[in-house]
Amino acid sequence: MSLRSVCVFCGASTGTNPVYREAAAALGETLAANGIRLVYGGGAVGLMGVVADAAMAAGGEVVGIIPQSLKDAEVGHSGLTRLEVVDGMHARKARMAELSDAFIALPGGLGTLEELFEVWTWGQLGYHRKPLGLLDVDHFYSKLSHFLDHLVDEGFVRAPHRAMLQRSDCPATLLQLLVNWQPTVVAKWHDRTPS
Ligand code: AMP
Repeated sequence: MSLRSVCVFCGASTGTNPVYREAAAALGETLAANGIRLVYGGGAVGLMGVVADAAMAAGGEVVGIIPQSLKDAEVGHSGLTRLEVVDGMHARKARMAELSDAFIALPGGLGTLEELFEVWTWGQLGYHRKPLGLLDVDHFYSKLSHFLDHLVDEGFVRAPHRAMLQRSDCPATLLQLLVNWQPTVVAKWHDRTPS
């Protein structure tokens, strides 16, 4: 598939290790260099601000989607190609998904994980056929990846659904994995045998 627009989920903070900031900047630059529009949460704080600033500085197109209620807390970015202010969190996630061909999670906290998992479950249910990726900076997502494999081993997630989530520590490699990804249509696992 070709990628025209990629949604990035990431922390509203920068974390304790400078490698997270460096990875966010590298991803923003790589998206811009490949002519891929960045869609993200619209804030100027944390890794959100870093990825957006890097993409803009590299001549990329950046669209931010921010709820009115968070415009102050997350400092709605005033230097983007476009900042859309929406009614709430649900509208934000729906709009980010609508505008994007794929999703990437940088390191982040609960909000990042929530956004990633919700859009992944939408894919599992067949609401979309768009790939997802983890930018696994400094093994940030290794433990989560092992746990996700465990969900497959234990019969709660199907392997093709697990495979929707790619992983690399390199932005360019991750984008290539997303481009190469082929959707397999498999129904969500429902155990219909009454207990
Ligand atoms: P965090 O990873 O917790 O630093 O949050 C990263 C981003 O996720 C911030 O822009 C938060 O506003 C956003 N966020 C937090 N909770 C949610 C949620 N329930 N749904 C969607 N976005 C969220």
